[in-house]
Amino acid sequence: MDESPQQAPLFTFGVIADVQYADLDDGYNYKRTNRRYYRTSLRLLRNAVESWSESSAVKPEFILQLGDIIDGFNRGRGASERALDAVLGELSPGPAEVHHVWGNHEFYNFSRSELLRSKLNTTLHSDRRLSGVPTRPDIYAYHFSPFPGFTFVVLDAYDVSLLGVEESSERYSNAMNLIKQHNNNKDLNCPPEEGGMKQRFTMFNGGFSKDQLSWLDSVLSLADEKQERVTIVSHLPVHPCSTEPVCLAWNYDELLAIMRSHSSVVCYMAGHDHEGGYCRDQDTGVHHLTLEGVIETPPDSNAFGTVSVYKDRMVMEGKGRIKDRVFPFPPCQTDVENGVV
Ligand code: ZN
Repeated sequence: MDESPQQAPLFTFGVIADVQYADLDDGYNYKRTNRRYYRTSLRLLRNAVESWSESSAVKPEFILQLGDIIDGFNRGRGASERALDAVLGELSPGPAEVHHVWGNHEFYNFSRSELLRSKLNTTLHSDRRLSGVPTRPDIYAYHFSPFPGFTFVVLDAYDVSLLGVEESSERYSNAMNLIKQHNNNKDLNCPPEEGGMKQRFTMFNGGFSKDQLSWLDSVLSLADEKQERVTIVSHLPVHPCSTEPVCLAWNYDELLAIMRSHSSVVCYMAGHDHEGGYCRDQDTGVHHLTLEGVIETPPDSNAFGTVSVYKDRMVMEGKGRIKDRVFPFPPCQTDVENGVV
C-alpha cells in the first residue's frame, strides 16, 4: 500500500552547507558577483539548529554538515581555532549528532593530520557504529546506518589534493602531476583557460583515490545485496548537471561510474557551489543535490533543509534559499518481483 504524505516518516535529518564563518565584515566571492556574509553566517547556523531543536514532531536523527564550516580567512588572522569553537558551540549540545564533511576551507585552516585528530573527525566522537576505510587511516570516509535498510556514506573529496598535505609528500606530488596535466596557470586556483569540463582542475577542488573508490564499491555491493537505500555525501558535486564545471570533483566521472553500477544508491548530496543545483541522473534516477551555501545567504534569509525519509522517497523541507524537494526512490527488486509496482 502506498504511504500517504501524512504518514510519519521513518526518520528525519537536517542538512546544511558552506557556513564559512569568520569574524569579518561582509566581502565578495572571487568573481565579485555574490556578497559573502562572514559574520552573520553564524546566526544563520543558529537559526537552523533552533529550528531542528524546536520541531518537536520530527526531531532529526542526525545532521549532515556538508563542509567549509569556517572560512580560510581565519587562518591568516590566527583565528582558526576560535572560529571552529564558535561554530561547534552552535551545534553542541544540539538536537542531534552532526556528521561533518571536509571541504577546501577545512584544509585552508588545518592540515589533514590536524583534521584527523579534530572535532571535525566524526569517527572519533560518534556514539554510533561507524565503519571507516579499512586500508587507509588517512582517508576520511565512513558509513553509518541510522535506520534498518538505510545507509549514509561520507566521502573524502580531497583524498587526492594539494591541500592539507606536506609539499614533500608523495600524495602532494601525485596531485600536482595530475592537475598540471590540465592546468598550465601559475596560480592553480585559476581554472584552465580552455574552459569547459576542464575547469574543475583547480587547487580548490580535489578527487577520490583508487583506494577510496574500491572501498566505496565494496560498501555498495553489500548494500545492493541487502537491498538498502544509500545516500552518499561529500563536499564536491559529481554530476555535471548539478553544478558548474568549475566546482566538480577532479575524477567525478569515476565516482559516477561506480554509483551507476550499484542499484542501492538513491541520492548524492554536496555543497561547495554556493548557488546550489539539482538534477536527476537519467540512467539511474539517482538524485544529485548541491545545497545552496549559508555564506552567500542574506542575513534576513536562511539556507538549511530538513529531510523526512519514507520507505519509497525522501522529502526535503527547505528554508530560505533552499527549495522544497521530493526525491522518489526507484522501485526496489523485491517490489518489482512481488508486483507491488
Ligand atoms: Zn568548498
